[in-house]
Amino acid sequence: MTTMEFTRQIFPFHGGVHPPEMKDLSNRAPIVKMPIPNKLVIPLQQSIGNSAQPVVNVGDVVLKGQLLAASNGTVSAAVHAPTSGKVIAIDAQQVAHPSGLAELCITLETDGRDEWIAKEKFDWQAAMARGDAKAVRDYLQEMGVVGQGGAVFPSHLKLFGREALETLVINGAECEPYITCDDRLMRERALEIVAGISIVRQMLNAKQVLIGIEDNKPEAVAALREVLKTCGFAAEVVVVPTLYPSGGAKQLIKLLTNIEVPSGVRSTELGVQCFNVATVYSIYAALEQAEPVISRIVTLTGNVERPGNVEALIGTPIDDLLKFAGVKTASDYIYGGPMMGFTLPSTKVGLTKAGNCVIAMDAAHFPEKPREMPCIRCGECAVACPAELQPMDLYWFARAKNFGKAQEWNLFDCIECGACAYVCPSSIQLVDYYRFAKSEIWDAERAKKSADTARERHEFKQFREEREKEEKAARLAAKSAPKPAAAVADAAPVDADDKAAKIRAAMARAAAAKGETPAEIAAPALDPEKAAKIKAAMEKRAAEKAELDALSPEEKAQRDLDKKAKIEAAMAAAAAKKAAKAAGEEAEVAAPAEPVVEKPAIDDEKAAKIRAAMAAAAAKKAAKAAGEAAPVAPVETPAEPVVEKPAMDEEKAAKIRAAMAAAAAKKAAKEAGEAAPVAPVETPVEPAGEKPAIDEEKAAKIRAAMAAAAAKKAAKQAAEGKE
Ligand code: SF4
Ligand code: SF4
Repeated sequence: MTTMEFTRQIFPFHGGVHPPEMKDLSNRAPIVKMPIPNKLVIPLQQSIGNSAQPVVNVGDVVLKGQLLAASNGTVSAAVHAPTSGKVIAIDAQQVAHPSGLAELCITLETDGRDEWIAKEKFDWQAAMARGDAKAVRDYLQEMGVVGQGGAVFPSHLKLFGREALETLVINGAECEPYITCDDRLMRERALEIVAGISIVRQMLNAKQVLIGIEDNKPEAVAALREVLKTCGFAAEVVVVPTLYPSGGAKQLIKLLTNIEVPSGVRSTELGVQCFNVATVYSIYAALEQAEPVISRIVTLTGNVERPGNVEALIGTPIDDLLKFAGVKTASDYIYGGPMMGFTLPSTKVGLTKAGNCVIAMDAAHFPEKPREMPCIRCGECAVACPAELQPMDLYWFARAKNFGKAQEWNLFDCIECGACAYVCPSSIQLVDYYRFAKSEIWDAERAKKSADTARERHEFKQFREEREKEEKAARLAAKSAPKPAAAVADAAPVDADDKAAKIRAAMARAAAAKGETPAEIAAPALDPEKAAKIKAAMEKRAAEKAELDALSPEEKAQRDLDKKAKIEAAMAAAAAKKAAKAAGEEAEVAAPAEPVVEKPAIDDEKAAKIRAAMAAAAAKKAAKAAGEAAPVAPVETPAEPVVEKPAMDEEKAAKIRAAMAAAAAKKAAKEAGEAAPVAPVETPVEPAGEKPAIDEEKAAKIRAAMAAAAAKKAAKQAAEGKE
């Protein structure tokens, strides 16, 4: 361990362990640029949050730095083409994840030309000068900048601050054994890192900047201190003792500021924000060089011929990296450090933005893990835990699938540093149990969220249907509601003038449809006599209606009975009249003056009966004339041929008597002046304009009486003709 001068008080955190550093395997050689591989497999899940959405199609030829997949939501970051080439696949492929599950990837066949897309530098300083920090954050999201310390948290989300930040912490601790990429980056690109720190400091308006570096990286400390001398702002490199996990954000904040970030609290709420050195480097590259995150420094170490750090394109297959480093013998490979990393499910997977190290395991340094033994409750894990948890209890809760209890015991404060497992004498792979418990809880949360979403959708659907029903009911009610008084007045036929006006309007519409002029149709409606008649009729109906409405139910019933009796009497009168008329018609049929063929066809039998009746009447008259008592009124004798008298029988005589009785009843009804309906009688049609205005009812009665008299006369004439 290198002895370093501590220039500032540090505040040790709880726990921590001292695993073998193994950094000198890879920290001696400078960063080498990795040759462009033939193929890149670029996962679209390159940050926590949503996967980026592809904006290219299979077959597209793309340039270096071109957008391949856009950020999808606030917690997401874009993905770009690491070099020029052709998109040959967009499909699910296995990715660098302990689960070994497949995720959507874009496979790019490289063309070796490494041709950049036209770079357009974003004037972030102008944006900041006009107070538009959001534009800078959006730009960084579009450039795919995420935290490269392992958490891959989208950086634009950490650059949001309403108030001046008290302390900006830059994480250069790099506490994991074997990993040296940050160390080499700080040594070789201190200027760019400081430029990135300057940007972040400006965006967060940080009052002080502290750069934490473990004391096993004296070259990095020196390089940064040298650059900071001329950077133009105050920043301090703070050397911290080498103790795993001093590179954890909470642990480094504690070391540098003595601020302990409690469970469930973000450090920004306490005035502190932390960025990894590789992340501020990417921020610099994006804002000053217009370069998205398309590559990163990765440590290739362990059982390889040429351990060191390479700058590799995102998506480079791990196989290519290992070949470049010179794999000695086939083995398993750790992605990340030996404490927090995981064994790769396959070396075909592509390098991600979080991929800081690939370790080829060998038996000497990574002996086979001893078999797990029962927990002996020694408490060593609790002593080592930097998060001050009770790892053995979390282990039991996770093992028993008592996830609620595990959450109660702050499972999610565990940073999976592996310090507890490192010290466990029973060789219990404690972190595996915690990861299992966390994934189960996340799955349950996702399922619950999904169910909540489905329930909310269902409830909204019900609400919408209810609302539509109510709206429909309201519409129907509005339609059936009484119209306003004015509208009713317009619609009601209150007098003849209104009626006439409506008739005129209707006639005008009809005339317009026929092409007539308004003048042509206006004249008839202006007839005052007709209008007066209409008005009188309407008034009469209104009076009748009012009279009817005023009657009691009993009076109405009596009225109905009276009306019925009148109707029956009228019907009897009509029947009698009809019989009389038929008799008259028969008489006309018998007259030789008219051609028979032109008469209406009548029933022969009926005609014979009528003739017989007429003959009987004639005989009766003759008998009367011969001395009998019955006086007979004189009648005119028509010039008709005399026919032979048929012998009269009783049946015929009865019929004749019935006809006469009916005629008498009709006469009685007439004399009573009742408005009985009469059978239709043909009357001469006179021109309407020449007729005086008389009561229609009276005229009808007169016409009925005249028709009855004519019939009677005809019958009489017929009878006399038979004599
Ligand atoms: S260190 Fe291991 S054996 Fe000891 S208490 Fe923790 S889990 Fe149990
Ligand atoms: S892995 Fe979790 S429980 Fe174990 S020491 Fe680290 S923080 Fe503590």
